[in-house]
Parts: sequence; structure tokens; C-alpha cells
Amino acid sequence: MTIFQQIIDGNIPADKVFEDERAIAFRDIQPQAPIHILVIPKKPIVSLADASEEDRDLMGHLMLVAAQVARSEGIDEAGYRVVTNIGREGGQSVDHIHLHVLGGRQMGWPPG
Ligand code: 5GP
Repeated sequence: MTIFQQIIDGNIPADKVFEDERAIAFRDIQPQAPIHILVIPKKPIVSLADASEEDRDLMGHLMLVAAQVARSEGIDEAGYRVVTNIGREGGQSVDHIHLHVLGGRQMGWPPG
């Protein structure tokens, strides 16, 4: 079981900023920017590479939750970044799909 599943199940605490029937968003434990929030579905999908046609709506929902969280954190006007890491070379460390919402500082490009 992943650490995110344990957060969904309420077995380990998280600093939640959003929750509905399909998704939750919470602050990253090791923030890489002044605002660093993770948006995850309650459905246990490993990564974007594992999302299927039946997840189309859910994937769109996660993106809209990311935008909503950015607004409520007050970083939408300055701008921010939404990223999902996939697999080993993508830098994924938790096998439950998640969107990183990063903001509150100037982002660099290309990412590391
Ligand atoms: P990934 O490297 O898979 O793209 O991102 C996983 C993220 O989850 C990392 O940024 C890491 O800091 C965060 N993370 C790992 N364990 C926990 C935890 O127990 N609680 C919270 N809030 N974040 C976690």
C-alpha cells in the first residue's frame, strides 16, 4: 500500500487543503517551493501511464482541482507549475498518480 493510500484512508495525517468524493489535495511534506501541494485521486492509479479511457473525466477533474487550489493559495495571478512525474526516469517516488502544484517563486526551465 502506498503512503498516499494511507493518507486517503486517514491512517496517516496530511495537511489537506481540498477534498471531495474523487480527490484530495494536501501540502507536500518536503516542499520544493513556498507553495507545494499534491493533488491525488482517491482511485489508486499508479501513474498517468496507467490511466485508461474510463479515467478521462477523473484526469480532467484533477487538473481543475489543481487550478482551484492554486487560486485558493493566491498563486494564480503570478503563475505556477503543475507537473506529474511518471516512472523511474520521470522521477516518480510514490506509485499513486499525483499532480504537483508548485508556486510562490520563479520556476526554472528546463526542469531538473
Ligand atoms: P514524486 O517524487 O513521486 O513525483 O512525488 C512524491 C511527493 O510526495 C514528494 O514530493 C514527497 O515529498 C511527497 N511525500 C512523500 N511522502 C509523503 C507524506 O507522507 N506526506 C506528504 N504530505 N507528502 C509526501
